[in-house]
Amino acid sequence: MNNGDKIAHMNAKNHPTFSVVAPVYNERESLPELYRRVKAVMESLGEPWELVLVDDGSTDGSTEVMRQLREQDPEHVRPVIFARNFGHQIAVTAGMDFARGDAVILMDADLQDPPEVIPKLVEKWREGYQVVYAVRAEREGETWFKKATAALFYRLIYRITDVKIPLDTGDFRLMDRRVVEVLKKMPEHHRFIRGLVSWVGFRQIGVPYKRAPRFAGETKYPLRKMIKFALDAITGFSYFPLQLATYLGFASAGLAIIAIPVVVILRLTGSQAFYGQATTLIAVLFLGGVQLISLGILGEYVGRLYDEAKGRPLYVVAEAPEDQ
Ligand code: UDP
Ligand code: MG
Repeated sequence: MNNGDKIAHMNAKNHPTFSVVAPVYNERESLPELYRRVKAVMESLGEPWELVLVDDGSTDGSTEVMRQLREQDPEHVRPVIFARNFGHQIAVTAGMDFARGDAVILMDADLQDPPEVIPKLVEKWREGYQVVYAVRAEREGETWFKKATAALFYRLIYRITDVKIPLDTGDFRLMDRRVVEVLKKMPEHHRFIRGLVSWVGFRQIGVPYKRAPRFAGETKYPLRKMIKFALDAITGFSYFPLQLATYLGFASAGLAIIAIPVVVILRLTGSQAFYGQATTLIAVLFLGGVQLISLGILGEYVGRLYDEAKGRPLYVVAEAPEDQ
């Protein structure tokens, strides 16, 4: 299709076929390369496309780079600029809200998810799958700590949640418009998007890919954010931690029931075992610990409940693409 045809086609249906959505938090150096590679791949598909870049409160000048890209290619580049940093999952959510395509592709802005995989995702979409997620068959250029915690995380989530979230799968995926519309109706604040997508159902399939190292800069996911992310994933999709308190309660009560006759018999036979303060202290500390942990777990759920009750918007947009 030449350019004239393409614009005519765009006008005919008034929206692009593909929306590529990338959250951006201080990715100044990666952005021009991201644009270049996404453009090359999308042009090869020969259908109208757009690149929705969500600026999640960047402070390194990424915002300026996005504005330049918009000026350079207003037909394809649509930056959504947040009023502050709201977090990766919220940025992706905003991207989906602004995306207009028949298929929406989520990917990271650091080029760890190679745009060259997109045609493979599209191929499966054309076969009739509504969600095509990219599975990390290999990861390059990441620390062993990141890989180990990630592997553990995916397996833990798989075990304790009710929805079957595919292993080693990030947010890199293609979703049909129908799936996106359902996701847009899920207003929860503490979002674990890959879980939400599994929850939705529809025809889903995985495609393996090799996760590349970061193009530039360093990870925007320090341990603190990783822990918050894991807690959102677990609390969002499982009651297991709450049930854990019940199990621990039964276990310690069971232990006490066994211990009482044992101690009575030991005393009657004149044994010195379980004498003194140390034994009492250990028992009290153990139970105190278990109770505090259970309270903390309860707190995680109650806090999230409170966030939902407040009903604040998920994000604040300082500048929508159409304002630029
Ligand atoms: N990101 C974001 N907001 C944040 C943290 C990260 O929008 O608060 C973006 C970041 O710019 C990148 C993607 O989310 O495009 C994934 O982050 P990163 O590459 O740092 O995570 P990692 O790949 O190391 O897990
Ligand atoms: Mg990354």
